[in-house]
Amino acid sequence: MSPKIIPVQTSTEFPSSTSVVIIGGGIVGLTAALTLAERGIPVVVLEKGKIAGEQSSRNLGWIRKTSRVAQDIPLAQMSDRLWKEMPSRVGREVGYRQAGIMFIARDETQMANHENWLKSVQHLDIDSRLLTANQIAGLVPMGRGNWTGGIFTASDGRAEPTLASSAIANAAMKKGAIIIENCAVRTLVTIAGKVTGVYTEKGEIKCDEVLLTGGLWSRKFLANHGVKLYTLPLICSVLRTKPMQGPTDIAVGAPDFSFRKHQDGGFIITQRGKLDAPLTLDHLLIGSQYLSQLKGQRNFLKIGLGKYALQDLSLPRRWDKDQISPFEKIRTMDPQPNIQLNQDALNNLKAAWPMFDQAKIEQAWAGVIDVTPDSNPVIDQIDQIKGLTVATGFSGHGFGTSPAAGQLAADLVSNYPLIIDPKPYRFDRF
Ligand SMILES: Cc1cc2nc3c(=O)[nH]c(=O)nc-3n(C[C@H](O)[C@H](O)[C@H](O)COP(=O)(O)OP(=O)(O)OC[C@H]3O[C@@H](n4cnc5c(N)ncnc54)[C@H](O)[C@@H]3O)c2cc1C
Repeated sequence: MSPKIIPVQTSTEFPSSTSVVIIGGGIVGLTAALTLAERGIPVVVLEKGKIAGEQSSRNLGWIRKTSRVAQDIPLAQMSDRLWKEMPSRVGREVGYRQAGIMFIARDETQMANHENWLKSVQHLDIDSRLLTANQIAGLVPMGRGNWTGGIFTASDGRAEPTLASSAIANAAMKKGAIIIENCAVRTLVTIAGKVTGVYTEKGEIKCDEVLLTGGLWSRKFLANHGVKLYTLPLICSVLRTKPMQGPTDIAVGAPDFSFRKHQDGGFIITQRGKLDAPLTLDHLLIGSQYLSQLKGQRNFLKIGLGKYALQDLSLPRRWDKDQISPFEKIRTMDPQPNIQLNQDALNNLKAAWPMFDQAKIEQAWAGVIDVTPDSNPVIDQIDQIKGLTVATGFSGHGFGTSPAAGQLAADLVSNYPLIIDPKPYRFDRF
């Protein structure tokens, strides 16, 4: 079960037309909707399940520049600014705290990775700095880990996934957006290669532009229209403790665990060193694009078959507007958390900061991440289908950049000046 977001009263009306349809009510689609609504552009968000029911409620809430590739940093920097403004923009708390993010290294190789990253972003205005073991102990006391060193970015932070999407959705609706839940979009409607609307399970909505922010499902949706998007799934398991005394407000990532403080005083913990990688048919079709990524990350992945793979095999790969689509068959992707990985994470954390011996697990969940071959999203217009823009493939770090990513998508859709240069996110780069 995913963490519960603050409930949102979505619309019951079903309009026959609008300017922009957004497919997918995760945080990227919702932020784009908010931006369009603020510009007075009629927009309808269609969500097959519940808003933020998939990745956008299940993530860790980290908002970081640290360890992003240099080309991705302008999006993260712009998002920092937008997160700061978010509470006044949406009139509600989103849990944003600029409490810093630290990554710590257990050996020289891991430390060299941090040093190399810092060198690679030296031309950018970033406050990241390397740390010695003593400095780590000063910032995160009461540990007994034997760290080689680390890296710290004071301007990184976190927000609460259970607050942010609801607050953004409510603000978007207040400004005129229509959001409809339990409404899967089956196909696009096109005339002469140009979008004229969408077919949903509840009927057709005519529109001028479509923005696809379908997360994990975008690849299937586009494949049905003959458009190839490169994403593969990874499953990340998470646990949340009951409120407890912790060593710091800083979010800390070690090689085999991470923790960050939750707004209720508990901690959100994950095994940073291992992710479940379910094998699917897509691995045969596009896996070769991922070979260089696999080389570097083989030890991080628990590759195997499993429930997710079987479920994926059972879904149709082609359908038309009158047929039930995969999006109705699975309203909310809710994978089982890997209890062993969660337990390993907690044990590794206890060994490093013994005060976590008192941790009591309150909740565990998992989420499926949509990963592109270079781990950066696609935010672009699709040449093959005029009037279609996508913002998807956020590869496990799209919560932090969602404010600027949603705005960039909205800029593309509404022909506004672009918030940042979209070049790193081109669709045709693979
Ligand atoms: C466990 C975990 C930890 C993470 N930790 C972090 C983190 O700390 N920091 C960070 O920055 N990022 C993190 N991420 C990644 C982050 O959550 C995602 O990048 C981000 O939420 C992506 O948002 P989205 O709107 O693109 O996708 P989603 O939230 O997945 O939303 C897509 C929505 O589209 C809907 N949809 C799809 N197809 C259709 C259709 N045809 N019709 C109607 N609706 C449709 C889906 O139901 C879904 O609700 C994590 C992810 C996970 C799973």
